[in-house]
Amino acid sequence: MSLGPKKIEGRPVPRPSRSAGVQSYALEVAKGVALTSAHFFRNTKEMVFAQRNDPILESVEEGVNTVMYPEQRRPYPARFRGLHRLTQREDGSPRCVACLCCSTACPAQCIHIVPAEYPEDDPRHGYERYPDEFVIDELRCIFCGFCVEACPCDAIRMDTGMHAAPYDSRDQFIFDKERLLGFPGRDGGHLSQNPRLEAGDRDYPGVTREKGH
Ligand code: SF4
Ligand code: SF4
Repeated sequence: MSLGPKKIEGRPVPRPSRSAGVQSYALEVAKGVALTSAHFFRNTKEMVFAQRNDPILESVEEGVNTVMYPEQRRPYPARFRGLHRLTQREDGSPRCVACLCCSTACPAQCIHIVPAEYPEDDPRHGYERYPDEFVIDELRCIFCGFCVEACPCDAIRMDTGMHAAPYDSRDQFIFDKERLLGFPGRDGGHLSQNPRLEAGDRDYPGVTREKGH
């Protein structure tokens, strides 16, 4: 029995014959240069005579133009989930009642809330809390929108129309309460799109000290 290398049996495949033109790539290089030049001269002519499509409005079928970001931006769809914001009440306080529904629903566990009580002379004292701290790690967030769905107060929204900026440090993606309250919605305002009656309003349907005991 032989212990040498095993002989591999098979049919040899002949090398394809290539002409000198193919082997030198000259024709293919010339074709590439011609294609690139044609695009260059066409784009230059369209730019000089203002014949280019609007890259913001054109559809893909109309061609592919370069969007000069950030001077030009394609509009985001109406339901685009952008950076979070915390909505405000009329007096500028957060609508958030620190119920922790959003942080419980968050699959990425990137919301941190520290609840606190309103002062004793505030009509909301004893009925609802407010977030002393409200922090979202936007780098950890997967933009699923569960927090917005979970919120019973429309206090957290993702309708800023903004995506996270390319910051250069990890810390810059940690958004605190003040920052989240400072972002406006797409309508430019800071209020909720679903206003509701507050404790102290005449037709407030909830329980208060005067009503519901
Ligand atoms: S969008 Fe999703 S991942 Fe991001 S904070 Fe909300 S629940 Fe968490
Ligand atoms: S944002 Fe909404 S869900 Fe989250 S703690 Fe505040 S009230 Fe609750």
